[in-house]
Amino acid sequence: MDKVKRIALVAHDNRKIDLIEWVEWNWEILVKHKLVCTGTTGRLVEETLDRKKEENGNTRTLSVTRLKSGPLGGDQQMGAMICDGNVDVLIFFWDPMQPQPHDVDVKALLRIAALYNVVTACSRSTADFIISSPLFDGQYVPIIKDYSSYINREL
Ligand code: PGA
Repeated sequence: MDKVKRIALVAHDNRKIDLIEWVEWNWEILVKHKLVCTGTTGRLVEETLDRKKEENGNTRTLSVTRLKSGPLGGDQQMGAMICDGNVDVLIFFWDPMQPQPHDVDVKALLRIAALYNVVTACSRSTADFIISSPLFDGQYVPIIKDYSSYINREL
């Protein structure tokens, strides 16, 4: 993965405040990277980063890609991006206190992130550790498990 990371951001409604606070806190780092978000999370992230940039006279152009809203397929779109090798870091603040209409998609996104060894945070403390890691600021090659024996299995 390159120095400029492709960071996916998702938060369920009860955790959007947490994520937005984290984005506000880390905005100067985040504007140097490429962000991809599910729909509603993306709107809030964009608004927050625009406000921080305006307050601080920062003119850096920032790429925020907005997918569909999570329950409308956004988590699946993000999972497909991971399968295609287009996500380096997943910050996913899912809600441990409330079932979601798209619970199966949430599980699928977490599964695919684990399968492809994507750097993943589901809590603010883990997200803090990731963004402050020396590895975050440089090149890094995650090891992807070799699934060739599975792909080529005798049937
Ligand atoms: P949202 O989706 O950003 O569109 O709210 C998040 C989710 O529920 O996965």
